[in-house]
Parts: sequence; C-alpha cells; structure tokens
Amino acid sequence: CGIVGYVGEKQASDIIIKGLERLEYRGYDSAGIALMNGQMDIKKGEGKVQNLKDKLKADPIKGVIGIGHTRWATHGAPNDINSHPHVSESGKIALVHNGIIENYSSLKKELENKGRTFKSETDTEVVAQLIEEIYEQGNGTFEQAVQLALQQVVGTYGLAILNIEEPDQMIVARKGSPLLLGIGDGEMFVASDASPIVEHTKQVVYLDDGEMAIVNKDGYDVKTIEDEELTKEVHELAMSV
Ligand code: GLU
Repeated sequence: CGIVGYVGEKQASDIIIKGLERLEYRGYDSAGIALMNGQMDIKKGEGKVQNLKDKLKADPIKGVIGIGHTRWATHGAPNDINSHPHVSESGKIALVHNGIIENYSSLKKELENKGRTFKSETDTEVVAQLIEEIYEQGNGTFEQAVQLALQQVVGTYGLAILNIEEPDQMIVARKGSPLLLGIGDGEMFVASDASPIVEHTKQVVYLDDGEMAIVNKDGYDVKTIEDEELTKEVHELAMSV
C-alpha cells in the first residue's frame, strides 16, 4: 500500500516513520521497517504505525539507509509474519512491495523445488527469494539479478530493495504501482506518493512502468528492467508542506 525509503547520512528510522505517518491516510493493516547497518535490522507487525513506533522506542535500530511499508493485505492474512519488509532465505535481501504478484504460486513452487523455505503466505516473499536464487548463481551483479527476477514476475509492483552485500545502495522498481524519487543534498528519498517527500525536497523524478532506479546518497541511475539507460526529467513539486 505505502512505501518510503531513505539513503543518506541521517538516521533513517525517524524519516521513514514520519513518511509512513504521511501515508496513513491511504489505509493499511500492518507496518514495518528495515534498516541496513552491516546487518539487516527489521521491525514489523500488524497494527498502526504507532505500534511500530512503540517497538522502535523499546528497542531502537540504527542505519542511514532503510525502507518502510504500510501493508494492505492481498495475499496472506494481516499478521506479523506477513507484514513487510520480507527477506530472502539468507536474510541478506529485504524488500517492501505494493501490488500483486499474479504468478507467485508457480514461482513459489519452483523455488521450493530448489530447496527454498518460505516464512510467509505473501506473494511478496517470492520476489525476495527469486532475486536471491538468481543472485546466488553468481553470474552477475545484484542489479542484474533484480532485472532477471522482475522479468519473470507477472503482476504489479512498486518495490524498494536492500541487499547487505551492497551496503550503500537501494534498488527500486515500478510496474503498475506508483513510485517516485526525491533528490536531496547528499540524500535521496523514495516513496509511493509525494506526501512523505515534500517536506524534504521539491525535486522529484517519477518512475514509469517497467523502470527501475539504483539509488545511493549522491544520486540515482534510472534504467528499464531490460537494462536500457534512461535520462529522466526532474519535476518540481508544487505542493507546500
Ligand atoms: N500483495 C502484497 C501483500 O499482500 C502487498 C500488498 C500492498 O500493496 O500493501 O502483502
């Protein structure tokens, strides 16, 4: 339902939580966050963003790069395990997803036949596991593994993806579910609509269907899922805070 991401030098937790609060108006059943700091730290669960805030207050996590999500369940009941972020089997890859993976059950069966075990009932977990399955074959970069995985996926997605082995970067992708980048000064923002971004920067890039971006604190590179480089127009947000 809602996605927020941050890459920069500030603590990502506060920025992401505030962003998720800005997205609450859309409705949701669960909320979660993943921060990278040498390891992947995740807090998530059913309920309001306030519940997530309480969990983070009791047991804070740190990191200057992270992703957050508010879930509106489509596949799998609203519960703690089905909440996003979802991780790959090794726990090295974490992602949040808006939309529906229509061919998830056939992909899941193939991955289970390859020995992967699934923790959740979601369509989303399949994407994390598929990316890792391809990445672990070791024939290419993480970015290429994401491209190959998304070429196999049928359905809709807005995705924000982290990999411990690429500690400074986030990959985002869009097909049928909105996603935009906010360009800051030594920091970058990602969100499913402009409301979490507008208080930080007015410079934004809207991804179109079939596009992905490799984002780090100093900028971004947009290309198609098929790896064609793109030059995107930077838009000025007119909204006020
Ligand atoms: N289909 C995914 C799920 O059920 C994502 C739902 C959403 O867009 O929040 O977990």
